[in-house]
Amino acid sequence: MKTKENHKTVIIDWKPNKNLDKPIYLQIVEYICNKISNGHWLIGSYLPSQRELSKLFDVNRSTIVSAMDELVSLGIIESSFGGGTKIISNTWSLLISKENLDWNKYVKSGLFKSNNSTIQTIIKLEFEDYIRLGTGELSPGLFPHHMMNKIFNKLSTKAYSLNYTEPLGLIDLRIAISNRLKKLGINANPSSILITSGSLQALQLISISMIKKGSTVFTEDPSYLKSLEIFQSAGINLSGIPMDNEGIKYWDINNSLKTIDRNLYNCLLYTIPSFQNPTGTTMTTKRRKDLFEFCKKHQLPVIEDCAYSELWIDEAPPLPLKSMDVNGMVLYVGTISKTLAPGLRIGWIIGPESIIERLGDVKMQLDYGASSLSQLVLTEFFESGLYDEHLTYLRKELKIRRDNAINSLNEYFKDLGTWNIPSGGFYIWLTLKNNISIDKLFKESLKEHILLNIGSIYSFKANHSLRISYAYEDCLTFRNAICKLSKIIRNIS
Ligand code: PMP
Repeated sequence: MKTKENHKTVIIDWKPNKNLDKPIYLQIVEYICNKISNGHWLIGSYLPSQRELSKLFDVNRSTIVSAMDELVSLGIIESSFGGGTKIISNTWSLLISKENLDWNKYVKSGLFKSNNSTIQTIIKLEFEDYIRLGTGELSPGLFPHHMMNKIFNKLSTKAYSLNYTEPLGLIDLRIAISNRLKKLGINANPSSILITSGSLQALQLISISMIKKGSTVFTEDPSYLKSLEIFQSAGINLSGIPMDNEGIKYWDINNSLKTIDRNLYNCLLYTIPSFQNPTGTTMTTKRRKDLFEFCKKHQLPVIEDCAYSELWIDEAPPLPLKSMDVNGMVLYVGTISKTLAPGLRIGWIIGPESIIERLGDVKMQLDYGASSLSQLVLTEFFESGLYDEHLTYLRKELKIRRDNAINSLNEYFKDLGTWNIPSGGFYIWLTLKNNISIDKLFKESLKEHILLNIGSIYSFKANHSLRISYAYEDCLTFRNAICKLSKIIRNIS
């Protein structure tokens, strides 16, 4: 977690033992020193406030004061008025063991960038007692336990192994995906399909295997891609392109394209055309056609992310861009994380065989294939028809939840903001009318045990928006949380 000064605050998950003879303040001093000497807490990070420490350790303030005094005298921490308590030295560790490493140097030198601090906080708090109003997964109650049991029973009667699978993934699964894609107008041989460990890995494979440092990936503004460091960590620039309610305003790419030396650098477009994350927007058929023509004309390859496209509520979205693609210009990315189970960690990427071979080769170097158990389970889900049965159920459930979400917003947010009505997926993009600080709203909501996904995570420019998801919380919890959120906003406006 980071404080308002953007400092990294350490996490405390231990309490002193009041039954020991050792004074409690000394137990605390030892605990803190050990955390630092083990390299778990780094120099430059901060301790929680004394008030929070006394709560976390379940001791009174005077014990904390004694422990802090001791740590200051050892030269381990430094307190500044109003500025928190900072870890300034790990020399204590050297007194104990000269062999201890300074991990700080290593932690800072890896290629991969850290997550944005708000995202780090969200990732942590999603597993604590918070109402998740913007989260990107289905409610656990929507998981089809009985279907899963059926599939495990069936698998238990089959002779299967859990050895590594073929380099591109289990052939039966690739055949099943190829058959499903035909219904979307996509002709993909199993040899042009790579099974990945989640679609996030598909994006990472593209970023590290095919795109030169200094290249540019254009994407909708706001976009899920902006919340990831995958491309930036590979030295690739992300460029946000505005949207309207028909999708990306692709013509805005023109100016940027003119400034890029295409002989030196690659350019790509990443788009989520159906039930976009985070805005819920679905690109119209006309916009898809025009965008495709534009990309063809400018030799701009496309990564089409269809994570949510099966989750339509009102009507099926237009056919994917990939269905227009006869020249292998579109890399199509799919997943079962939003429809079935993110924990299975299965996604796929479809493209020209030469590209799939290259990505498959890099994947083999990274993890030697996605989980074979997950691939077997998913193959059964597809082949048995249970997956489609589950989708039908899910669409009905999501309609109830979407309608409840819109009714709740109509009731409590009419004078506070504007929003779109998505025709599928998980998300509503709520833009607040009031110029309140969204960071303040995030913190005040945490006090009421509401966890928000604020718009700045996804957008390239400052905004007053929130990504609201109706997929996780049940209707009553959602409604009550929206009511509470409206009160928080009124209080801090
Ligand atoms: N694409 C989009 C648009 C997403 O929203 C997500 C998950 N939030 C992913 C890809 C990654 O999902 P996974 O790796 O679980 O398949």
